[in-house]
Amino acid sequence: MSVMTGRPKRDIYFDNNATTEPLPEVIEAVAEAMSVGPTNASSVHSAGQRARNALAKARAQTAAIVGARESDVVFTSGATEANNLVLQSLLGRLTGYRLVTSVVEHSSIIETARFLERRGVTVTLLPVDENGLISEQDLGDAIVSAKTLVSIQWANNETGVIQPIERFVNLAHGRGAIFHTDAVQAVGKLPLSLSEVPVDLLSVSAHKLHGPMGVGALVGPGLKHVSPLLYGGSQEAHLRAGTENVPGIVGLGRAVEIRSARVAAVTQTTSALRDRLEAALIAGGLLAAVNGGTTSRLPNTTNLQFAAVDGEALTIRLDQQGVRCSQSSACTNQKPEPSYVLRAMGLTESQAYSSIRFGFSEMNTAAEVDIAVETITRLHEALSRFAVA
Ligand code: PMP
Repeated sequence: MSVMTGRPKRDIYFDNNATTEPLPEVIEAVAEAMSVGPTNASSVHSAGQRARNALAKARAQTAAIVGARESDVVFTSGATEANNLVLQSLLGRLTGYRLVTSVVEHSSIIETARFLERRGVTVTLLPVDENGLISEQDLGDAIVSAKTLVSIQWANNETGVIQPIERFVNLAHGRGAIFHTDAVQAVGKLPLSLSEVPVDLLSVSAHKLHGPMGVGALVGPGLKHVSPLLYGGSQEAHLRAGTENVPGIVGLGRAVEIRSARVAAVTQTTSALRDRLEAALIAGGLLAAVNGGTTSRLPNTTNLQFAAVDGEALTIRLDQQGVRCSQSSACTNQKPEPSYVLRAMGLTESQAYSSIRFGFSEMNTAAEVDIAVETITRLHEALSRFAVA
């Protein structure tokens, strides 16, 4: 049976910051890795050697997309684990260090920071301005000692706002601090390289790049500061015990290999789709604001504050019409709370509730944007009439 059998009719999927559709080439690579027979990379026999070769290839592919050394890649179960691995090192090798991070980080950073605070680590959560940007001054003030781990996202998953990471890294390094960045949304969407922006550690996730879920990596020379979360075998240079997820890692490698050659093309395609959506909705008078829209953003992301309607009602109705988008980060949207990212940027509760995120991929088309605009316009009209009545 083909792995593609039973695939439902294609919807208009504009939620690519939550997850992306796996590429056929990735599905093929994962299926092949699973069908070659048992391959445990710790086995000394030739099947084990095959697995080791597959891991080495994926390591080279993963290192290449961020300009890192192959020996500086540790595979994990995703970016949540990679983020935890770095931050929880404050209880291990980095004992005595402070943590400086921000209020707009993904929950895998914020919740880990809260856990660390309960365990006695001094944590500073930097605020953002109305554009979603962290101030360099605030960051400098917060690094009061060289024994500091700074963790600041490269780009935000909800708004796409890009932080000036290069300046932040220089500042942190000037004070002797270690710099980690959650680059999940930036890798493959921006041309970034550790040789140009020398972060110590960077987290990556495969499923944001048309790869499989449940696999990612922590990358960078700062691995020497990291202590393991899991104890057991000596896999991943003793930093990540457990039999490697060879098929998943192969899928990650294939996904980033394909993306490495396409960053400029993806930027061009997705930014054109984003601009088309924004221009049509602005022209139609449907928007109160483009959240974070006056600063540098990821090419594929827009966070739109609709005038006079509840974003949740609009998101649900769009879903019923086959247009998938989301109201806040997927990891928190089970909670009936307004986005903490938008609230941190100074939006009122009601402005945050009126906001919807659209994340494009190369698989989207201008025709899909036009259908979405027509659908949004019709639903917005109906919903705002209902709101007035
Ligand atoms: N950081 C950011 C910025 C994300 O968008 C996500 C995915 N929602 C994660 C971390 C977590 O990644 P994973 O799903 O691989 O655990």
